[in-house]
Amino acid sequence: MVTDVVCPFCGTLCDDIEVIVENGEIESVKHACKLGSAKFLHARKGRFTTPLIRGEEGHIETTIEEALDRAARILAASERPLLFGWATTTCEAHRIGVALAEELGAVIDSCTSVCHGPSELAVQDVGYPTITLGEVKNRADLIIYWGANPMHAHPRHLSRYSIFPRGYFRERGAKDRELIVIDVRKTDTAKIADTFVQVKPGGDYELVSALRLIVNGGELKEDEVAGVPRDQIYALAEKLTSCQWGVLFFGQGLTMTRGKVRNIDNAISLVRDLNRYTKFSIMMMRGHYNVTGFSEVLTWQAGFPFAVDFSRGYPRYNPGETAANDVLQSREVDAALIVASDPVSHFPQRSVEYLASIPMVTIDLHWTPTTELSDVVIPCAIAGIEYEGTAYRMDTVPIKLRKVLDPPEGILTDEEILKRLLEKVRALKK
Ligand code: SF4
Repeated sequence: MVTDVVCPFCGTLCDDIEVIVENGEIESVKHACKLGSAKFLHARKGRFTTPLIRGEEGHIETTIEEALDRAARILAASERPLLFGWATTTCEAHRIGVALAEELGAVIDSCTSVCHGPSELAVQDVGYPTITLGEVKNRADLIIYWGANPMHAHPRHLSRYSIFPRGYFRERGAKDRELIVIDVRKTDTAKIADTFVQVKPGGDYELVSALRLIVNGGELKEDEVAGVPRDQIYALAEKLTSCQWGVLFFGQGLTMTRGKVRNIDNAISLVRDLNRYTKFSIMMMRGHYNVTGFSEVLTWQAGFPFAVDFSRGYPRYNPGETAANDVLQSREVDAALIVASDPVSHFPQRSVEYLASIPMVTIDLHWTPTTELSDVVIPCAIAGIEYEGTAYRMDTVPIKLRKVLDPPEGILTDEEILKRLLEKVRALKK
């Protein structure tokens, strides 16, 4: 049994997992939710272990050396490649990825640009009065999930940190806390909430503004705002101002709906306003387990959290122009390296059509629509199961991923693959 294993699935990064290994395979998993258990039990199944390159008649198997040579030639010949993905690998791999982007004069971007990109922009506008999940557990008595459904996306968030655990100042666990869910529909999280506030789709900005009006001493004259009755908004404002320590967790229901960055600006400003009455904090509900880590690494190395363009020889950041979908839809990149991601399944059609038309190298272990369209596919080991590394939880606390099993023979980690790729690119560009 391997104890204190960290689950490499969602941004909650639960670090109390126990994994039973028998005959070199994972036999069972304790403490993880369904999502985490599925990753431990099934991630090694159906993987490919031989590098592939595209030939005349489709993909053919090759050696790691040949695959790396071909990948390095594609990237070195490119004038401005796109390096995308990074949310499900380690910070050690991110560090080499940023060095590679600088060497190539590439655009480097992560899944942040299609999930919490607006949140990062808002933080730069108005700051980020945040908290750690440990403090939430010990102190918070009012929890709000706005546009987030952790019962499905982060199943142990409530039991480990926000609602159910007993904390230093919350000895009775859920009995000492109140849960409010604000969403456009009654999600499974909303079903267990003390209060559910149903907002009209696209009405979040108006509802935040109404709350700020009341919190700042104004009078709300409308009978309802964004589908929420006036009385309910006043009752909500009363709860927000009278709690001891409130925390607003928000997800893509707020970041990717009408208003985007302005929704988050406004929500952070509401939290700032509330701190005149009580303690209040805000936190992004980050999805992939190390999407936060990539923003941390890129920020300390290049100064910006995502969508960084090195094509002028220095880091430039202008989301709307330099994010992955921007450069794909404006056809401004001429090759792509995809690491630990499947953009072909998730990007808009126009981006995918262009990705399919340029040379693409992918580092991944499962067959996906992205590997299907790639010219070179390099299989890798699984971070957090087959090798150690660093990941950042959604509250930007770094956590050491543990190793449970050896990878199949000859399979390299993302960091090792990227290091060898960087060496080969440097040799070609001399
Ligand atoms: S909540 Fe997230 S990190 Fe925790 S066990 Fe489930 S998938 Fe893993």
